Amino acid sequence: MGATGAPGASDIMRRGEKAGRNDPCPCGSGEKYKRCCEKKARGAGPGGAITLIVLVGVLIVAIVVAITSITQDPAPTGSRRVWSPEHGHYHNVP
Ligand SMILES: [Zn+2]
Ligand SMILES: [Zn+2]
Repeated sequence: MGATGAPGASDIMRRGEKAGRNDPCPCGSGEKYKRCCEKKARGAGPGGAITLIVLVGVLIVAIVVAITSITQDPAPTGSRRVWSPEHGHYHNVP
C-alpha cells in the first residue's frame, strides 16, 4: 500500500494477461483493441455525459451574460418610457 512501482502491476504487464491496446480486441472483431472497443468504452462512459454537461453549462453562462449585458443597456427600448438626455432621466409616455 503506497509503495511506488507495485510488483503486482509490473508482473501482470510482463505476462501480458491484461489486454493491451495493440492486442486483438476481446470482442472478436479482429481489430486491435485501441481501434475497436477502447473508443466505444470511452464514448459510452460517463466522460461523454460530463462533456455534454460542461457544454450546456458554458452555453447557459453565455446566454446569461448576453441577457445581463442587454439589461444593463442605458437606453432600453421600454414600451412607455423615453430617455431625456436634457433631464437625465426617463419620461413616462402615456
Ligand atoms: Zn471490440
Ligand atoms: Zn424630465
